[in-house]
Amino acid sequence: MNGPDGACPHCGAAVPVHRLAVAGHCGAPLCAAAQGRVVAERATEQNRAGAEAARARVAAAVAPVMRRVEDAAGEVPLLGAVPHRVPVLVPAEEGRRAAFLAHVARLCDAAFEVAEEEIAPVYDRAAHEPEEPDAVGPACASCRGRCCIRGYGQNAFVKVGTIQAFRRAEPGLTKEALLARYAAHFPEESSAGGCIFQGPMGCSLPRGYRAGICNTFHCELLDALIEEAAEAPGPVVVAAADEAGVQVVSVMVPDGSWEEVEP
Ligand code: SF4
Ligand code: SF4
Repeated sequence: MNGPDGACPHCGAAVPVHRLAVAGHCGAPLCAAAQGRVVAERATEQNRAGAEAARARVAAAVAPVMRRVEDAAGEVPLLGAVPHRVPVLVPAEEGRRAAFLAHVARLCDAAFEVAEEEIAPVYDRAAHEPEEPDAVGPACASCRGRCCIRGYGQNAFVKVGTIQAFRRAEPGLTKEALLARYAAHFPEESSAGGCIFQGPMGCSLPRGYRAGICNTFHCELLDALIEEAAEAPGPVVVAAADEAGVQVVSVMVPDGSWEEVEP
């Protein structure tokens, strides 16, 4: 099909208009690469605009809380946003519990091949796990543990290294004791499609029984909040939002205490 020509925006070569409309360039490799960059820049710009708009929506939703906190504290609070996802809880299933315990048993078989005194220092969690900043607890609680959804496919992130860390911290710990520890902490209801330990009150495992990553992972928004809170040590308003808008608002004061409030 012949038709009018247009000019390639990158090299100026004549190109049929219908081809330009589809590809945006003449087809030469250098022009294809240049067009790729243009498309990527446009996408970045759209993402930035989307993020700005989302920030503005969050700020508008929590404006009354920001004013209340400012009036009470005498200073403008920091506003931090985190994700939000309420797990859908389903009654515990014996099969799911058994599959998890079988996973841990297999890990133990591999882990216990290494003698306790030969477990490498890298598994010393006390030495490697940094203390969490104050904002983490309120932020993750307000979020309701969105990242724990990944604990389903990852078996609560329990790996051979997790077992070695427990053994290093508690000399004499047996495979049976470890399995019993997990079995004793299954919640009555677990997140459907999420971690088996994500129950009605959040994670049912005590902090020291969780995989290391559960105690140290920060999503991007949480990382940003931690950084900003470190630079502005006043009150913090945490807005947990999903696609439908802000769902939970928490206020944290400088002594680290916090409460959920009505927006
Ligand atoms: S790390 Fe992020 S996604 Fe995970 S619970 Fe905390 S705020 Fe939510
Ligand atoms: S063990 Fe707890 S913190 Fe870790 S993924 Fe499961 S529910 Fe989340």
